[in-house]
Amino acid sequence: MTHPENIFFTILLTAAGLAFLYSFVRLARFVMLGGSDDRLKGSFIRRFNTMIAYAFFQRRVISEGYGWNHFFIFWGFLALLLANGEFVLSGLFPGFRYTDLVYFKGMEYLYTAFDLVSLLVLATILIAIVRRVVFRPAHIEALSRDAFIILGLIAGLMLAYFGLAGSELALKSAGESAPMPVSGAIAAALAPLGHGPVEALFHVFWWLHAVILLSFLNYLPYSKHMHILAAIPNCYCRAFEFVTTVPREEFVKGTPNGVSSIDQFSWKDLLDFTACTECGRCNKNCPATSTHKPLNPRIVIHQGKENLLANGSRILSGNRTSGITPLIGEQDGDATVSEKALWACTTCGACMQNCPVFIEHVPKMVKMRRHLVENESKFPEELNVFFEAVEQRSNPWGIAPSDRGKWANELDIPAFTKDAGLEYLLYVGCAGAFDSRSKKVTAAVVRSLKAAGVSFGILGSDEKCCGDSLRRLGNEFVFDQMARANIEQYRALGVKKIITTCPHCFTTFKNDYRQFGFDAQVVHHTELLNTLIEEGKLKLEKSNGGRIVMHDSCYLGRYNGIYGEPRALVTKATGKKPLEMDRTLAKSFCCGAGGGRMWMEEEPEHRINMNRVKEALDKKPDAIAVSCPYCLTMFVDAVKDFKVLDKVQVLDVAEIISERIKA
Ligand code: SF4
Ligand code: SF4
Repeated sequence: MTHPENIFFTILLTAAGLAFLYSFVRLARFVMLGGSDDRLKGSFIRRFNTMIAYAFFQRRVISEGYGWNHFFIFWGFLALLLANGEFVLSGLFPGFRYTDLVYFKGMEYLYTAFDLVSLLVLATILIAIVRRVVFRPAHIEALSRDAFIILGLIAGLMLAYFGLAGSELALKSAGESAPMPVSGAIAAALAPLGHGPVEALFHVFWWLHAVILLSFLNYLPYSKHMHILAAIPNCYCRAFEFVTTVPREEFVKGTPNGVSSIDQFSWKDLLDFTACTECGRCNKNCPATSTHKPLNPRIVIHQGKENLLANGSRILSGNRTSGITPLIGEQDGDATVSEKALWACTTCGACMQNCPVFIEHVPKMVKMRRHLVENESKFPEELNVFFEAVEQRSNPWGIAPSDRGKWANELDIPAFTKDAGLEYLLYVGCAGAFDSRSKKVTAAVVRSLKAAGVSFGILGSDEKCCGDSLRRLGNEFVFDQMARANIEQYRALGVKKIITTCPHCFTTFKNDYRQFGFDAQVVHHTELLNTLIEEGKLKLEKSNGGRIVMHDSCYLGRYNGIYGEPRALVTKATGKKPLEMDRTLAKSFCCGAGGGRMWMEEEPEHRINMNRVKEALDKKPDAIAVSCPYCLTMFVDAVKDFKVLDKVQVLDVAEIISERIKA
């Protein structure tokens, strides 16, 4: 390096450093536009450890084969920070080497390591390019310009490094440095050019390396690779449990509800947007995307990020009067989420389960739905009937509330009253009380509870809807009223333990009502029946049920971690473990009814339930076992459409048990 070069580099580095700092602070100020969130609560050690495991050791990323390539790029890059540190210092202090500061025997092999790691990074970048161009998986963006710029910059950096190190080696006498296999080979190729041309090449590569390095630094905060900056804090701020609910709303007169402007999200939501790696694992596992619905969760998160970048400066300066890009619109835009996308979500949570950086998609969708429902009264037409029926008659079909207890007329079940001294309230739910197929499941549960001598009662016509679909659909105002009224009723009756036959009611009582101070113990019927059998209170006569394939309800499995009990029950009843579908347990695929989708129309040719039942039929079952009335309805419909209703039964696990109760 000549003295003028050294001065020029110092100026360039200062300018690039300041530009990066400006971009970083700007991004941080955009994120802090969001509302409050208590994510920094909890043990620092636990948060720190989880950040190391998921951001640095990329536990979720490497759970899929290609993830290892990303892992090596990331770690190669971290290792090369050391090499680039020396490079920058050599620009400020010509000829600088770490070995000038400190030296120990064998330290020169650090340069061998730099050489090999650079080769590894170059190889992984080539693999990434070939994957995108030749073997592009459907779930990643087609030929993303941004991705190619970043891949090109990293590849360019590695090539410039080899040119630089090779020409430097060629200028040295033999034996002056540690073995550098790649740069050594380049040095051998350059040596015949003679000292002058090689020295000129050294300067060219040095400056090429400097320009690429500083360009990369400054492109980062404006590209999809801003996740390098945001994913680490996002893993630190992750929710430790699966995100089972959405925040409560405060209803303040004159204040809009839900989210229609990017700064109405919480700061954690905004950090999520910037942390997205655009890996596409969310849409790969999304039932809506898989069945060609107008929803792709990766794109929704990208639109959130673009909206933040488009509007951040104006919002910060208080200039909202013009030029603001709408967050929600009738059509998709680069920075606008379409209404159709929001209504296509089943809230199954598969996106959140698979996201390597813990982005929480579902609460964001629900917050935007709240705006459409509560401020704009804009929702699919068929929801008019649903909202009216639930609000006025407390069930989705609008059946007279006085009919709610009719299913139990012949079953001799005590009413749960304050003085009845009963242990459990059996909360039947709308489907269990009104839907003819689900009523059989309720009767099966009752039969088992009676056989085991469980002390329980029902509310009959005094039972009300729990409000699950209302909440997922964004009708928080009505949900809030229903939740508070139900809790008041249960408290007045002294309810301490609730049995539910529906995972949606289960999660609503267990997770959503907690936000309202409700603390009764809630069990799903599969949990209780399994305990009763284990305690010897419920005795079964095992009998072969043929080939039974298991389906996991999203709200029982993914949301509440109940996978073992339904399987244990089938095994106890039939003596055989149930068959598993290809997508099973946490990877299970939605039936299509969650998130209020049960009450909306779906395109006949791309139905989610058909996709799932096809997967079940691939196992050649005699029966499909479910633990949820929504799954039951969706599967019965699909089995009918496949015209196999005479060959394949759809059974709730409770029915499999009740058929085998010992007299
Ligand atoms: S939201 Fe998560 S899973 Fe989806 S593309 Fe972004 S990082 Fe990947
Ligand atoms: S919750 Fe399910 S349907 Fe909704 S975006 Fe995520 S994966 Fe898709």
